[in-house]
Amino acid sequence: MSELPYSYEAPASQALFDRAAAVTPGGVNSPVRAFGAVGGTPRFMVSGSGPYLTDADGREYVDLVCSWGPMILGHAHPEVIAAVQEAVARGTSFGTPGEGEVALAEEMVARIEPLEEVRLVSSGTEATMSAIRLARGFTRRGKVVKFAGCYHGHVDSLLASAGSGVATFALPDTPGVTGAQAGDTIVLPYNDLDAVRAAFAAHPGEIACVITEASPGNMGVVPPLPGFNQGLKDACAENGALYISDEVMTGFRTSRAGWYGVDGVRPDLMTFGKVMGGGFPAAAFGGRADVMAHLAPAGPVYQAGTLSGNPVATAAGLAQLRLLDDAAYEKVNAVSARIQSLVTEALSKEGVAHTLQNASNMFSVFFTENPVRTYEDAKRQESFRFTAFFHSLLANGVYLPPSSFESWFVSTAHDERAVQRIADALPAAARAAAEATA
Ligand SMILES: *Cc1c(COP(=O)(O)O)cnc(C)c1O
Repeated sequence: MSELPYSYEAPASQALFDRAAAVTPGGVNSPVRAFGAVGGTPRFMVSGSGPYLTDADGREYVDLVCSWGPMILGHAHPEVIAAVQEAVARGTSFGTPGEGEVALAEEMVARIEPLEEVRLVSSGTEATMSAIRLARGFTRRGKVVKFAGCYHGHVDSLLASAGSGVATFALPDTPGVTGAQAGDTIVLPYNDLDAVRAAFAAHPGEIACVITEASPGNMGVVPPLPGFNQGLKDACAENGALYISDEVMTGFRTSRAGWYGVDGVRPDLMTFGKVMGGGFPAAAFGGRADVMAHLAPAGPVYQAGTLSGNPVATAAGLAQLRLLDDAAYEKVNAVSARIQSLVTEALSKEGVAHTLQNASNMFSVFFTENPVRTYEDAKRQESFRFTAFFHSLLANGVYLPPSSFESWFVSTAHDERAVQRIADALPAAARAAAEATA
């Protein structure tokens, strides 16, 4: 820690991290949490309220991670907590169908026109894994197209050139995934329709689906160029493949209807997680009814889950979605735009080359002056500047994602006071970024 000029002691977090490291690989249950990309002691959080998190040392932070997106109403929203308490008191899992899961599915289907049917699962990883299995079962084809820098959870066949933690740790391939599992995956550069057309031409009748993040947020925020998603959809339709839009991050965050509500391109299948769970493990995949009809028990493609549609998780998700009306999205978008301009102003004032990119209220800063259209572009940024920027903000009570390959997230709870705290912390952070050396 002493080599990090902008960090400060966090003895309670450090003690917890030491305990964790004795019983958990790397001391964390999801790699990016370990601060591997930025160094220093990961902060162990004990509570959250609105836009704030409090760590084990009693320090409060303005949270710009929001649990990686789910907490779009802020932490411990009273109405979500009340719905959870009410559900918990009735029992936590039945292993039978229940009304809560029906109500959540109805709410999702009502918001997203191409979402005709959904199946609930417990994580985004399960959602994309199941959607791919269904696409393969439906088309009776094997190959899957994905894009470099897009992350779809830790599905074996999709851990090739994935973003997020994989980008942070520069593991282009992970041990444990066999050649057979990765061999049916075709990885293409993002935003490159010619590459997609060439792949279809090279593998006629073999490609089951193209999966893409609806608007990528796992290599930093890299929105699709105009026409890219529509081009994917058209290429799939012309070649008998399914277009799978992964909305685990963007779903119910970028608009009432997620990224579909922004670009209107109709996917064959979609995947969801994060916001729809209200901070609990709930996720889903769904789409065309004729495709979903192939899923067990209606059809032959098997998929199941002991805790799928869990009554507490679905109560939290439903309560959150019901609070997410047009006014809520306007609020999140507005506060996001404010913070984006504060960040750009502070960095520009110190002459730090940067590009701020956004997709609705999701945004991130790349420490490069060039626009970022692909994963290769994202990797060309000066990440050492992010490290200095991150630690300065952390020391001044602003909690950013601990990697320059992640989206920042805000909530309806980010009020004037929270924005002011960010504004107060930014000048020193921008100076730290300017002074940083590789
Ligand atoms: C977070 C994420 C996933 C994985 O979801 P988990 O719940 O972490 O398994 C999949 N796809 C995208 C686009 C994501 O952002």
